[in-house]
Amino acid sequence: MGSTIHQLDEKLQEDKSARKNLEESSRCLGQKTAAAESRAVSAESDLRIEREWRISLQESMMRDRDKISILTQEVESLKSIGQKYLALQEEQHRLKIQYNEAQKTLEEVGATLSENKLQLAEMLEREARTSDETPNWTSDKDAIACAACAKEFTIARRKHHCRRCGNIFCGACSEKTVALAGNTKPVRVCDTCFTEVRLT
Ligand SMILES: [Zn+2]
Ligand SMILES: [Zn+2]
Repeated sequence: MGSTIHQLDEKLQEDKSARKNLEESSRCLGQKTAAAESRAVSAESDLRIEREWRISLQESMMRDRDKISILTQEVESLKSIGQKYLALQEEQHRLKIQYNEAQKTLEEVGATLSENKLQLAEMLEREARTSDETPNWTSDKDAIACAACAKEFTIARRKHHCRRCGNIFCGACSEKTVALAGNTKPVRVCDTCFTEVRLT
């Protein structure tokens, strides 16, 4: 009986020790679990932060992509504007050349015009001088009769030009001679012209 009690006591002691060990390891496990849980929570938080960060990064990337697309369009439009500017510059250059040529032509035309004006003035002057000095001569063929006495011309009654009025007279009506400008010797004039010259 005494040994049985002793055995039981030993067993109890063993059980107690085992329970202590179990409790110890349970406590240890609990601590480990808590640590693991805490790590898990921290990792989850990290993961959430990372996900948020990635989302914000993606959003900013999309915004950047939009900006890049807008900038690309602007660059294209600037390029087209640049090409138009170049074309306009070429057009301006061409117009300038045309303008210069037109002006040169205009100057030439102007020069020719003033030259023509001069020539015309000279011609008019010469004509005026000529009409002053030499009379409008009546054609020989047209004259049938003397401009003064109206007698018809024959082989005996020949035609004579008055050097002053240019009309055709018979010899009797144009006997007199006077000194006229532009002639070295006195020239034949009609009676009317002779009288007029004497009066002036
Ligand atoms: Zn006559
Ligand atoms: Zn005359």
